[in-house]
Amino acid sequence: MLTVNAYAAPSATAPLAPTSIQRRDLGPRDVLIEIKFCGICHSDIHTARGEWGGTNYPIVPGHEIAGIVTRVGAQVTKHAVGDRVGVGCMVDSCGDCANCRKGEEQHCLKGMIQTYGGAGRDGQPTQGGYSTHIVVTEDFVLKIPEGLSLDAAAPLLCAGITTYAPLRHWGAGPGKKVAIVGLGGLGHMGVKLARAMGAEVTVLSQTLSKKEDGLRLGAHHYHATKDPETFRKLAGTFDLIVNTVSAKIDLDAYLSLLALDGALVNVGAPPDPLSVNVFSLIMTRRSFAGSLIGGIRQTQEMLDFCAQHKLGADIEVIPAGKINEAYERVLASDVRYRFVIDAATLK
Ligand SMILES: [Zn+2]
Ligand SMILES: [Zn+2]
Repeated sequence: MLTVNAYAAPSATAPLAPTSIQRRDLGPRDVLIEIKFCGICHSDIHTARGEWGGTNYPIVPGHEIAGIVTRVGAQVTKHAVGDRVGVGCMVDSCGDCANCRKGEEQHCLKGMIQTYGGAGRDGQPTQGGYSTHIVVTEDFVLKIPEGLSLDAAAPLLCAGITTYAPLRHWGAGPGKKVAIVGLGGLGHMGVKLARAMGAEVTVLSQTLSKKEDGLRLGAHHYHATKDPETFRKLAGTFDLIVNTVSAKIDLDAYLSLLALDGALVNVGAPPDPLSVNVFSLIMTRRSFAGSLIGGIRQTQEMLDFCAQHKLGADIEVIPAGKINEAYERVLASDVRYRFVIDAATLK
Protein backbone atom coordinates (compact mmCIF):
# COMPACT_ATOMS: atom_id res chain seq x y z
CA MET A 1 0.00 0.00 0.00
CA LEU A 2 1.02 3.54 -0.66
CA THR A 3 0.15 6.25 1.86
CA VAL A 4 -0.51 9.58 0.16
CA ASN A 5 -1.62 13.06 1.14
CA ALA A 6 -5.20 14.04 0.42
CA TYR A 7 -8.01 16.40 1.32
CA ALA A 8 -11.18 14.78 2.64
CA ALA A 9 -14.61 15.66 3.95
CA PRO A 10 -14.84 14.00 7.40
CA SER A 11 -18.64 14.36 7.52
CA ALA A 12 -21.52 16.02 5.67
CA THR A 13 -21.24 19.18 7.74
CA ALA A 14 -17.51 19.54 8.50
CA PRO A 15 -15.17 21.41 6.14
CA LEU A 16 -12.69 19.41 4.07
CA ALA A 17 -9.34 18.97 5.80
CA PRO A 18 -5.88 17.52 5.09
CA THR A 19 -5.52 13.79 5.69
CA SER A 20 -3.65 10.79 4.34
CA ILE A 21 -5.15 7.81 2.52
CA GLN A 22 -4.00 4.43 1.23
CA ARG A 23 -3.68 3.61 -2.45
CA ARG A 24 -3.69 -0.06 -3.40
CA ASP A 25 -0.52 -1.88 -4.45
CA LEU A 26 -0.03 -1.84 -8.19
CA GLY A 27 -1.67 -4.81 -9.90
CA PRO A 28 -0.28 -6.09 -13.20
CA ARG A 29 -2.56 -3.80 -15.24
CA ASP A 30 -2.51 -0.81 -12.87
CA VAL A 31 -0.97 2.59 -13.43
CA LEU A 32 0.30 4.85 -10.64
CA ILE A 33 -0.34 8.50 -11.43
CA GLU A 34 1.22 11.46 -9.70
CA ILE A 35 -1.65 13.93 -9.72
CA LYS A 36 -0.71 17.46 -10.81
CA PHE A 37 -4.16 19.07 -10.96
CA CYS A 38 -7.74 18.21 -10.04
CA GLY A 39 -10.80 20.25 -10.98
CA ILE A 40 -13.63 21.02 -8.57
CA CYS A 41 -16.95 19.77 -9.98
CA HIS A 42 -20.34 20.60 -8.49
CA SER A 43 -20.81 16.83 -7.96
CA ASP A 44 -17.88 16.92 -5.52
CA ILE A 45 -19.83 19.35 -3.36
CA HIS A 46 -23.09 17.36 -3.52
CA THR A 47 -21.19 14.21 -2.50
CA ALA A 48 -19.02 15.81 0.21
CA ARG A 49 -22.15 17.29 1.78
CA GLY A 50 -24.13 14.07 1.49
CA GLU A 51 -26.79 15.76 -0.62
CA TRP A 52 -27.27 12.73 -2.86
CA GLY A 53 -27.31 10.33 0.10
CA GLY A 54 -25.14 7.29 0.69
CA THR A 55 -21.81 9.10 1.15
CA ASN A 56 -19.33 7.09 3.22
CA TYR A 57 -17.00 9.31 5.23
CA PRO A 58 -14.27 10.31 5.11
CA ILE A 59 -14.58 11.00 1.37
CA VAL A 60 -11.89 12.39 -0.94
CA PRO A 61 -13.73 13.98 -3.89
CA GLY A 62 -12.31 14.84 -7.30
CA HIS A 63 -12.92 13.33 -10.74
CA GLU A 64 -11.19 15.79 -13.03
CA ILE A 65 -7.67 14.45 -12.65
CA ALA A 66 -4.57 15.31 -14.68
CA GLY A 67 -1.08 14.05 -13.91
CA ILE A 68 1.98 12.05 -14.88
CA VAL A 69 2.47 8.27 -14.88
CA THR A 70 5.17 7.37 -12.35
CA ARG A 71 4.94 3.57 -12.29
CA VAL A 72 3.17 0.84 -14.29
CA GLY A 73 2.26 -2.78 -13.59
CA ALA A 74 4.08 -5.60 -15.40
CA GLN A 75 1.34 -6.15 -18.02
CA VAL A 76 0.53 -2.52 -18.79
CA THR A 77 0.80 -1.76 -22.51
CA LYS A 78 -1.21 1.44 -22.99
CA HIS A 79 0.78 3.82 -20.80
CA ALA A 80 4.42 4.38 -19.86
CA VAL A 81 6.26 6.20 -17.10
CA GLY A 82 6.34 9.92 -17.90
CA ASP A 83 3.10 9.95 -19.93
CA ARG A 84 0.69 12.84 -19.41
CA VAL A 85 -2.63 11.30 -18.42
CA GLY A 86 -6.07 11.99 -17.07
CA VAL A 87 -8.77 10.20 -15.09
CA GLY A 88 -12.43 11.19 -15.15
CA CYS A 89 -15.58 10.12 -13.33
CA MET A 90 -15.04 6.36 -13.49
CA VAL A 91 -12.10 4.07 -12.73
CA ASP A 92 -13.47 0.67 -13.73
CA SER A 93 -16.43 -1.30 -15.11
CA CYS A 94 -17.20 -4.95 -15.76
CA GLY A 95 -15.77 -4.77 -19.28
CA ASP A 96 -17.98 -7.62 -20.41
CA CYS A 97 -21.63 -6.51 -20.56
CA ALA A 98 -23.34 -5.33 -23.75
CA ASN A 99 -22.82 -1.66 -22.92
CA CYS A 100 -19.18 -2.05 -21.93
CA ARG A 101 -18.58 -3.94 -25.18
CA LYS A 102 -20.03 -0.97 -27.05
CA GLY A 103 -17.56 1.33 -25.32
CA GLU A 104 -20.29 2.88 -23.17
CA GLU A 105 -18.67 1.96 -19.87
CA GLN A 106 -20.52 4.76 -18.07
CA HIS A 107 -23.66 2.69 -18.68
CA CYS A 108 -22.13 -0.62 -17.53
CA LEU A 109 -25.02 -2.95 -16.70
CA LYS A 110 -23.26 -4.00 -13.51
CA GLY A 111 -22.57 -0.37 -12.61
CA MET A 112 -19.44 1.55 -13.41
CA ILE A 113 -17.09 2.16 -10.52
CA GLN A 114 -17.01 5.85 -9.74
CA THR A 115 -13.69 7.56 -9.10
CA TYR A 116 -14.79 8.43 -5.58
CA GLY A 117 -17.59 7.13 -3.41
CA GLY A 118 -17.71 3.78 -5.26
CA ALA A 119 -16.48 0.36 -4.24
CA GLY A 120 -13.35 -0.81 -6.03
CA ARG A 121 -12.73 -4.40 -7.11
CA ASP A 122 -10.81 -4.85 -3.85
CA GLY A 123 -13.99 -3.91 -1.99
CA GLN A 124 -12.42 -0.75 -0.63
CA PRO A 125 -14.18 2.59 -1.11
CA THR A 126 -12.71 4.56 -3.99
CA GLN A 127 -11.17 7.95 -3.21
CA GLY A 128 -10.80 10.72 -5.74
CA GLY A 129 -8.38 13.26 -7.06
CA TYR A 130 -7.91 15.71 -4.19
CA SER A 131 -4.75 13.76 -3.46
CA THR A 132 -1.16 13.44 -4.64
CA HIS A 133 -1.43 10.00 -6.29
CA ILE A 134 -4.02 7.55 -7.60
CA VAL A 135 -3.85 3.95 -8.83
CA VAL A 136 -6.12 3.14 -11.79
CA THR A 137 -6.43 0.18 -14.14
CA GLU A 138 -4.88 1.16 -17.48
CA ASP A 139 -8.12 0.95 -19.50
CA PHE A 140 -9.58 3.88 -17.55
CA VAL A 141 -6.55 6.14 -17.94
CA LEU A 142 -6.77 8.71 -20.75
CA LYS A 143 -3.92 10.31 -22.66
CA ILE A 144 -3.65 14.08 -22.44
CA PRO A 145 -2.14 15.14 -25.77
CA GLU A 146 0.82 17.53 -25.98
CA GLY A 147 -0.53 21.00 -26.58
CA LEU A 148 -3.07 20.78 -23.78
CA SER A 149 -1.76 22.11 -20.48
CA LEU A 150 -2.51 19.76 -17.58
CA ASP A 151 -4.29 22.40 -15.49
CA ALA A 152 -6.70 23.48 -18.24
CA ALA A 153 -7.15 19.86 -19.34
CA ALA A 154 -8.26 18.57 -15.92
CA PRO A 155 -11.86 19.86 -16.17
CA LEU A 156 -12.23 18.26 -19.59
CA LEU A 157 -12.39 14.88 -17.83
CA CYS A 158 -15.87 15.67 -16.47
CA ALA A 159 -17.16 19.04 -17.74
CA GLY A 160 -15.64 18.46 -21.18
CA ILE A 161 -16.96 14.97 -21.86
CA THR A 162 -20.33 15.71 -20.26
CA THR A 163 -21.01 18.34 -22.90
CA TYR A 164 -19.05 16.77 -25.78
CA ALA A 165 -21.04 13.51 -25.70
CA PRO A 166 -24.53 14.98 -26.30
CA LEU A 167 -23.19 17.42 -28.90
CA ARG A 168 -21.79 14.45 -30.84
CA HIS A 169 -24.72 12.11 -30.25
CA TRP A 170 -27.27 14.67 -31.47
CA GLY A 171 -25.12 15.81 -34.38
CA ALA A 172 -23.91 19.32 -33.53
CA GLY A 173 -22.02 20.66 -36.53
CA PRO A 174 -22.22 22.98 -39.53
CA GLY A 175 -25.78 24.02 -40.35
CA LYS A 176 -27.06 23.07 -36.88
CA LYS A 177 -28.38 25.56 -34.36
CA VAL A 178 -27.32 24.62 -30.84
CA ALA A 179 -28.31 26.32 -27.60
CA ILE A 180 -26.44 25.86 -24.34
CA VAL A 181 -28.52 26.60 -21.22
CA GLY A 182 -26.40 27.99 -18.38
CA LEU A 183 -22.87 29.41 -18.60
CA GLY A 184 -21.04 27.68 -15.75
CA GLY A 185 -18.38 24.98 -15.61
CA LEU A 186 -20.29 22.70 -18.00
CA GLY A 187 -21.87 25.44 -20.11
CA HIS A 188 -18.64 27.25 -20.91
CA MET A 189 -17.18 24.00 -22.28
CA GLY A 190 -20.41 23.32 -24.18
CA VAL A 191 -20.07 26.68 -25.93
CA LYS A 192 -16.41 26.13 -26.86
CA LEU A 193 -17.01 22.59 -28.11
CA ALA A 194 -20.18 23.34 -30.09
CA ARG A 195 -18.43 26.28 -31.76
CA ALA A 196 -15.39 24.14 -32.63
CA MET A 197 -17.72 21.52 -34.14
CA GLY A 198 -19.03 24.22 -36.49
CA ALA A 199 -22.51 24.76 -35.07
CA GLU A 200 -24.28 28.10 -34.71
CA VAL A 201 -24.17 28.56 -30.94
CA THR A 202 -26.56 30.43 -28.64
CA VAL A 203 -26.26 30.82 -24.88
CA LEU A 204 -29.49 30.91 -22.89
CA SER A 205 -28.71 32.31 -19.46
CA GLN A 206 -30.95 33.83 -16.81
CA THR A 207 -29.54 37.32 -17.36
CA LEU A 208 -27.12 39.02 -19.73
CA SER A 209 -24.48 39.43 -16.99
CA LYS A 210 -22.02 37.04 -18.68
CA LYS A 211 -22.84 38.02 -22.25
CA GLU A 212 -19.35 39.36 -23.06
CA ASP A 213 -17.80 36.16 -21.76
CA GLY A 214 -20.23 34.00 -23.70
CA LEU A 215 -19.39 35.72 -26.97
CA ARG A 216 -15.66 35.56 -26.20
CA LEU A 217 -15.96 31.80 -25.55
CA GLY A 218 -17.46 31.35 -29.01
CA ALA A 219 -21.21 31.90 -28.85
CA HIS A 220 -22.80 33.68 -31.80
CA HIS A 221 -25.86 34.80 -29.81
CA TYR A 222 -26.75 35.31 -26.16
CA HIS A 223 -30.23 35.67 -24.69
CA ALA A 224 -31.68 36.17 -21.21
CA THR A 225 -34.26 33.56 -20.20
CA LYS A 226 -35.71 35.94 -17.61
CA ASP A 227 -36.97 38.03 -20.53
CA PRO A 228 -40.25 36.40 -21.76
CA GLU A 229 -39.58 37.99 -25.14
CA THR A 230 -36.70 35.50 -25.58
CA PHE A 231 -39.08 32.53 -25.75
CA ARG A 232 -41.34 34.30 -28.24
CA LYS A 233 -38.47 35.40 -30.49
CA LEU A 234 -36.67 32.05 -30.51
CA ALA A 235 -39.68 29.71 -30.82
CA GLY A 236 -38.94 26.77 -33.15
CA THR A 237 -35.29 27.75 -33.61
CA PHE A 238 -32.92 25.07 -32.30
CA ASP A 239 -31.91 21.61 -33.47
CA LEU A 240 -30.37 20.86 -30.09
CA ILE A 241 -30.57 22.40 -26.65
CA VAL A 242 -28.12 21.13 -24.01
CA ASN A 243 -29.34 22.07 -20.53
CA THR A 244 -26.46 22.24 -18.05
CA VAL A 245 -28.55 23.70 -15.23
CA SER A 246 -29.52 21.51 -12.27
CA ALA A 247 -32.39 23.77 -11.19
CA LYS A 248 -36.02 23.18 -12.10
CA ILE A 249 -36.91 24.57 -15.54
CA ASP A 250 -40.17 25.00 -17.44
CA LEU A 251 -39.73 22.09 -19.85
CA ASP A 252 -42.61 23.11 -22.12
CA ALA A 253 -41.14 26.58 -22.56
CA TYR A 254 -37.73 25.17 -23.53
CA LEU A 255 -39.23 22.49 -25.79
CA SER A 256 -41.08 25.25 -27.66
CA LEU A 257 -37.68 26.57 -28.77
CA LEU A 258 -36.93 23.38 -30.74
CA ALA A 259 -37.25 23.05 -34.52
CA LEU A 260 -38.59 19.92 -36.27
CA ASP A 261 -36.94 16.81 -34.77
CA GLY A 262 -35.11 18.96 -32.24
CA ALA A 263 -33.91 17.54 -28.93
CA LEU A 264 -33.65 19.03 -25.45
CA VAL A 265 -30.96 17.13 -23.56
CA ASN A 266 -30.39 17.45 -19.83
CA VAL A 267 -26.90 16.97 -18.44
CA GLY A 268 -27.81 18.89 -15.30
CA ALA A 269 -29.81 16.78 -12.84
CA PRO A 270 -32.51 18.62 -10.90
CA PRO A 271 -33.35 16.85 -7.63
CA ASP A 272 -37.12 17.04 -8.17
CA PRO A 273 -39.18 15.54 -11.02
CA LEU A 274 -40.08 17.81 -13.93
CA SER A 275 -43.46 17.80 -15.63
CA VAL A 276 -44.05 17.94 -19.36
CA ASN A 277 -47.10 18.54 -21.51
CA VAL A 278 -46.86 15.72 -24.08
CA PHE A 279 -48.13 18.07 -26.79
CA SER A 280 -44.78 19.83 -26.44
CA LEU A 281 -43.17 16.61 -27.71
CA ILE A 282 -45.79 15.62 -30.29
CA MET A 283 -45.66 18.95 -32.06
CA THR A 284 -42.73 18.97 -34.53
CA ARG A 285 -41.61 15.54 -33.25
CA ARG A 286 -39.43 16.86 -30.42
CA SER A 287 -37.41 14.79 -27.94
CA PHE A 288 -36.51 15.24 -24.32
CA ALA A 289 -33.45 13.22 -23.29
CA GLY A 290 -30.56 12.93 -20.84
CA SER A 291 -26.86 12.19 -21.19
CA LEU A 292 -24.22 10.95 -18.71
CA ILE A 293 -20.49 11.73 -19.28
CA GLY A 294 -19.16 9.47 -22.08
CA GLY A 295 -17.34 6.18 -22.62
CA ILE A 296 -13.57 5.87 -22.47
CA ARG A 297 -13.15 5.82 -26.25
CA GLN A 298 -15.22 8.98 -26.65
CA THR A 299 -13.44 10.68 -23.75
CA GLN A 300 -10.14 10.13 -25.55
CA GLU A 301 -11.71 11.41 -28.77
CA MET A 302 -12.82 14.55 -26.87
CA LEU A 303 -9.30 15.15 -25.49
CA ASP A 304 -7.80 14.75 -28.97
CA PHE A 305 -10.46 17.10 -30.40
CA CYS A 306 -9.65 19.69 -27.72
CA ALA A 307 -5.92 19.45 -28.47
CA GLN A 308 -6.60 19.82 -32.19
CA HIS A 309 -8.75 22.91 -31.61
CA LYS A 310 -6.59 24.25 -28.75
CA LEU A 311 -9.46 24.15 -26.26
CA GLY A 312 -9.02 23.94 -22.53
CA ALA A 313 -11.24 25.00 -19.68
CA ASP A 314 -11.10 28.57 -18.34
CA ILE A 315 -9.69 27.97 -14.88
CA GLU A 316 -8.65 29.51 -11.58
CA VAL A 317 -5.88 27.45 -9.99
CA ILE A 318 -6.04 27.32 -6.18
CA PRO A 319 -3.97 25.76 -3.38
CA ALA A 320 -5.63 22.93 -1.42
CA GLY A 321 -6.08 25.25 1.56
CA LYS A 322 -8.70 27.16 -0.42
CA ILE A 323 -10.94 24.20 -1.29
CA ASN A 324 -13.64 25.11 1.24
CA GLU A 325 -13.67 28.71 0.11
CA ALA A 326 -13.86 27.54 -3.51
CA TYR A 327 -16.92 25.38 -2.67
CA GLU A 328 -18.74 28.47 -1.38
CA ARG A 329 -17.76 30.40 -4.48
CA VAL A 330 -18.99 27.60 -6.79
CA LEU A 331 -22.35 27.69 -4.98
CA ALA A 332 -22.45 31.46 -5.48
CA SER A 333 -21.56 31.04 -9.20
CA ASP A 334 -18.46 33.11 -8.45
CA VAL A 335 -15.99 31.28 -10.68
CA ARG A 336 -15.08 31.69 -14.33
CA TYR A 337 -15.33 28.86 -14.96
CA ARG A 338 -13.63 26.05 -13.06
CA PHE A 339 -11.50 25.85 -9.94
CA VAL A 340 -8.51 23.56 -10.29
CA ILE A 341 -6.50 22.40 -7.28
CA ASP A 342 -2.72 22.48 -7.59
CA ALA A 343 -1.84 19.05 -6.14
CA ALA A 344 1.69 20.23 -5.27
CA THR A 345 0.06 22.12 -2.38
CA LEU A 346 -1.11 18.81 -0.84
CA LYS A 347 2.45 17.86 0.04
ZN1 LIG B 1 -18.11 16.12 -12.40
ZN1 LIG C 1 -20.22 -3.59 -18.01
